[in-house]
Parts: sequence; C-alpha cells; structure tokens
Amino acid sequence: MQVNPEYDNLTIGVVAMQGSFAKHAYSMGRLGIKSRVIREAADLKLCDALILPGGESTAMTLLFENEGLWDPLNKALETMPVFGTCAGAILLGRQIDDERVRCFNKINYKAERNAYGRQIESFTSSLVIPSILDHDFHAIFIRAPKFHEIGSDVMTLGVFGKDPVLLRQGRVLVSSFHPELTEDSGIHKYFVDEIVLKSR
Ligand code: GLN
Repeated sequence: MQVNPEYDNLTIGVVAMQGSFAKHAYSMGRLGIKSRVIREAADLKLCDALILPGGESTAMTLLFENEGLWDPLNKALETMPVFGTCAGAILLGRQIDDERVRCFNKINYKAERNAYGRQIESFTSSLVIPSILDHDFHAIFIRAPKFHEIGSDVMTLGVFGKDPVLLRQGRVLVSSFHPELTEDSGIHKYFVDEIVLKSR
C-alpha cells in the first residue's frame, strides 16, 4: 500500500481511559498513520486530532472528571478534529437524558443510549456510504445509540434503515457503530484525508 507522505507529520490521539481504544490505533496503523494514547492533559499537546472511542459513556464521564481530563479535553475539542464512535459519539453530542453522562456539545444532536437494546441485541449490517466509500462497510453495532433532534448544521453520511449512523458537523465525525472492529480502515481514512488534513 502506498502511504500518503502527508501522513508523516500526523499524530492521532486516541483517548484511552476506557473502552475500545487499542483497535483505533490499529486502524490508523494500517493506514501508516501514527497514533498515541491520551491519558492526561499533557498528551493532548502532542497530537493533531483525537479519537473518542466506544465503551461506556457513564464510566468515561466519571474517569474524565476524576482524572482532571474533562476540561482539557473540552478545550482541545474546541479546535481539534475528532472522530467519536458509539460512546464517544454520545459524549460529543449536545444533550442526553442521563444525568450520569456529561456531553461536550460539539455536534448538534441529542443522543439516546442503548437505543437498539442490550448487549445481546448487538448486530451487524452492511452499510452503503457512497459519499465516502466505493464498497459496502461492515458495521458492528454494540449497544449503539440513536441520534435525535439533529441540527441542520449536521451532515448525514450514512444510515441504517432510517437512522442516521454516520454524521459530520465540520471537524467532528461520529458513528454509532464500531469501525475500528473491522479490518476496513475506510472511515478512518476519510476522517484523516477529508477532515484532519483539510483543517490544518
Ligand atoms: N451503550 C454505551 C454507552 O451508553 C455505548 C456502547 C458502545 O460504545 N459500544 O456508553
């Protein structure tokens, strides 16, 4: 695979307090892109963009607050491109009806946690995302959220049935599914090529 020379100077920070962070690093690695884990505020200065992984949005809220990372992350997210998946997408939203979760309000929707049911109701689906990919994307949904009251400033890039599942508002990209759990780095590549590199 030919690696884009522009990738040489990029470092993607993967927030690694909880959840599925290691696989995002693999997804970037497959593209020839460096990543580093983010566990404290100082780490944020060393990267060009962030990934907020899936996991458990309640646990992440607690950990960010207890470890003093919530405020620095919130500040970094004012300027840095970010890709939030599943729990990460919940945290990036405007609002949620769960007082245990604190939202960063960086993309304009209200998220509903566990909207397709419990762990056992997890499922996969082949998504057609023509604006990004020339092939179907095997999407894995694990206790995925739904997004409601979506602002007109938000672009829907992918749907499952009628539900928007891949959305973008400026430098914020989110998916309700887990693209890092497949061998396909196509959505990560879109994030880097169309959002991270173009917002430098
Ligand atoms: N249901 C989880 C939450 O509310 C998200 C699940 C996931 O990230 N796979 O945080």
